[in-house]
Amino acid sequence: MAKILVVEDEAGIAFGLESDMQTEGYEVKVVADGLEAIRQARTGAFDLILLDVMLPGKDGFEVCRELRRGGLKIPIILLTAKAQEAEKIVGLDVGADDYVTKPFSPRELRARIRAALRRLAPGGAGDRAENIFKFGPFELDLIRFELRRDGRVLNTTTTELKLLNALTRNKGRVLSRDKLLDEVWGEGIAVTDRVIDNHIVALRKKIEDEPASPRYLVSVRGVGYRFDG
Ligand code: CA
Repeated sequence: MAKILVVEDEAGIAFGLESDMQTEGYEVKVVADGLEAIRQARTGAFDLILLDVMLPGKDGFEVCRELRRGGLKIPIILLTAKAQEAEKIVGLDVGADDYVTKPFSPRELRARIRAALRRLAPGGAGDRAENIFKFGPFELDLIRFELRRDGRVLNTTTTELKLLNALTRNKGRVLSRDKLLDEVWGEGIAVTDRVIDNHIVALRKKIEDEPASPRYLVSVRGVGYRFDG
């Protein structure tokens, strides 16, 4: 059973993460500040850390850097509240393995945790391929969380990448707008169908040769969308 250290000072989110992780069969410890996070992580008792960025004591960036400087190698997934924080993680090399932007979909977070733990397992390096989805000249990279065309990173938003991830994971299957809402925005978040459609339009402009007659992101009238690879 993998042990996860959850570092989150918002009690409601911490509780949600704790019960969700326990349901998944992980052993969980929750701490609420950066200094305590470092102390706990250094006990060597954990297999993975879920680390909030905005924390009392030391922020998640500092915690991450300090742990890496100390030689800690376990996966660290940062929980960010803002897109700007996410950009910082990518821009500065804080040593995180992955990040998830709040509000995150519990399902997506679980998938990221599983992927990170798999990479840790013996022979896990090969699993990198599982986290890169290729179609045409494109690569959707779930570790770096970016979309590349012929190796060049495309300018995409987090929402677009989440949407593309949900659709490609279900390649060939129609996903209703409700299902996409749940996968991308998380349960209980109010987003209109129109918002999804707008993101699809934006994505098509980036990956389709002819956005008006899409090859990859296909509309299924009255139902939703399907990814054809
Ligand atoms: Ca916080």
